[in-house]
Amino acid sequence: MAVDLHTHSTASDGSDRPSVLVEKAVGLGLTALALTDHDTLEGVPEARAAAAETDLELIPGTELSLDHQGAMHLVVLWLEPGPGPLQDRLAAIQHGRHARNQAIVELLGELGMPISVEEVAEESGSGSVGRPHIAAVMMRKGYVQSVAEAFDLWLGAGRPAHAGRARATPEEAIGLALDSGAVPVLAHPHTLGINRADEMADLLDRLRGAGLVGLEAACSGYRRHEREGYADLARRFGLVATGGSDYHGRYKPGLELGIGYGDLLVPETVLDRLRVYRRAVA
Ligand code: AMP
Ligand code: FE
Ligand code: FE
Ligand code: ZN
Repeated sequence: MAVDLHTHSTASDGSDRPSVLVEKAVGLGLTALALTDHDTLEGVPEARAAAAETDLELIPGTELSLDHQGAMHLVVLWLEPGPGPLQDRLAAIQHGRHARNQAIVELLGELGMPISVEEVAEESGSGSVGRPHIAAVMMRKGYVQSVAEAFDLWLGAGRPAHAGRARATPEEAIGLALDSGAVPVLAHPHTLGINRADEMADLLDRLRGAGLVGLEAACSGYRRHEREGYADLARRFGLVATGGSDYHGRYKPGLELGIGYGDLLVPETVLDRLRVYRRAVA
């Protein structure tokens, strides 16, 4: 029995509607699906409605980008739509995204690749608008061959059309998640760009101290030794070794829901270990 605890829909930078993700999860025989769109819970009602007619457990969640050199992402599970400490913060984060996207569009214009915010909004549909949408517009206009190339040449950190935005610190984000009754998980740890064991140990110590619950050890593309290495790290630091596909539909070609690049498997037992940390909030 398998689950997928990290996925994106049209509510952020995925290309499948939330209801389609649910359909696909059911088709794959998954028993649970976490919808973790970047900085938004907008896709949750549609996913819930679709899941209500099935045996699939739908876990509402989000994925936050944190203030840390390298890309540090936090997956937050069981974050309920509605008012709450982290939920309220998402609105401010959306403002920051909007201003950042505007800045990128201006930079691209100066670099001879004019696109408009309207075109980006159209590509995005509803929910969180992000760089993958900008990349897709650039591709359509023939400025780049792929979304990956748009990041490598222009939109990635240190590239000419890169613009930053304010991010929560890891401590802040973990605290807000816990105060909201949700379960914080460190996403795809290989993207932290840490290759020294002592540096990773210091970081996990610090995040565990802030209340981190889980560490993604099963990610799309991980080889067996990586999965085992991260699972071992999780054990050493008292974290739940979890995982998910980070499915984005056509924005990440070749990466499938549930199975990643074909060999991903996140067992249902992981969910039971995480569930213990979920907290009811008044
Ligand atoms: P944003 O949230 O708007 O800053 O965009 C970040 C998102 O872009 C990530 O969550 C990924 O989905 C995607 N992304 C980041 N780096 C790359 C890359 N090199 N190639 C393709 N997609 C990427
Ligand atoms: Fe994404
Ligand atoms: Fe991520
Ligand atoms: Zn993700």
